[in-house]
Amino acid sequence: MSLGSVEIYPMSNISYNFKDKNVLVTGGARGIGLAIARGFLTAGAQVAIWDFSKENLGKADLELDAYRSQLHCRQVDVTSIKSCEEAAKDLPFEVDILVNNAGITRDKSFAKMTSEAWQAVIDTNLTGVFNVTKAVTPEFGSGKNKRIINIASVVALYGNFGQTNYVAAKAGVIGVTKTWAREFGAKGVTVNAVAPGFTLTPMVEAMPKEVLQKMEDKVPVKRLASPGDMAKACMFLASEEASYINGATLSVDGGIVC
Ligand code: NDP
Repeated sequence: MSLGSVEIYPMSNISYNFKDKNVLVTGGARGIGLAIARGFLTAGAQVAIWDFSKENLGKADLELDAYRSQLHCRQVDVTSIKSCEEAAKDLPFEVDILVNNAGITRDKSFAKMTSEAWQAVIDTNLTGVFNVTKAVTPEFGSGKNKRIINIASVVALYGNFGQTNYVAAKAGVIGVTKTWAREFGAKGVTVNAVAPGFTLTPMVEAMPKEVLQKMEDKVPVKRLASPGDMAKACMFLASEEASYINGATLSVDGGIVC
């Protein structure tokens, strides 16, 4: 069982070059977003990380110290259009690849879910995608081969007990992705979603081993995802090789949804 280790790039036989690309990753200070940021940094890109948590940003800054000249961290609240617009003005570059990754959970069965929990998740996971994209895209359409990658979730494809708010937001993200694929396509921007399965981020790793083992048993490839699995999917979708993929939702879930 692979629990306990978050491998980032085991046995990669693909080498990406994003040296002339500028990437923005929201929620990039930890977990999946951090792996995505690291992936693009190792491939030579300039990377901006926008994240809510100053503490996590500080940790990410230290962890990615080797890429200091390529890295730009900033505290941003994606639920606030004002915060996003201010941060967009401060970006040191024009964004080529936007990864909308910031997300939260506030799980409860529908009967117990409060309006606040509903609103918080919609505000972050769905409105946040709108706000960041709105703030970043005014000049975004001026160049070709640009990319928007929205991080959804497998649960948006099949529903999940206790996640009314989260599933609604992530299903919304998939709908937005398809719509923007149509609106941005002619401008040379592709828009796709990645739907991660259950991924071993530090938060998830803290769950009881028995629970994780049960989840792992349900996955056809018999392992949980690593954040690096999501980073690799994002890098593929951002690459030239994926230039004809538009409006797709790529499940990266070991086969849970198939
Ligand atoms: P984490 O909680 O580890 O990381 C998410 C990051 O987003 C945190 O640093 C968090 O900051 C930040 N964030 C939250 N709210 C805001 C905000 N308002 N503005 C800016 N940043 C914010 O999550 P994961 O890495 O596990 O998940 C990343 C994405 O992948 C999410 O969209 C999630 O829904 C999705 N996903 C994850 C799966 C999993 O199993 N891990 C499965 C399917 C989808 P803070 O710490 O302050 O909250």
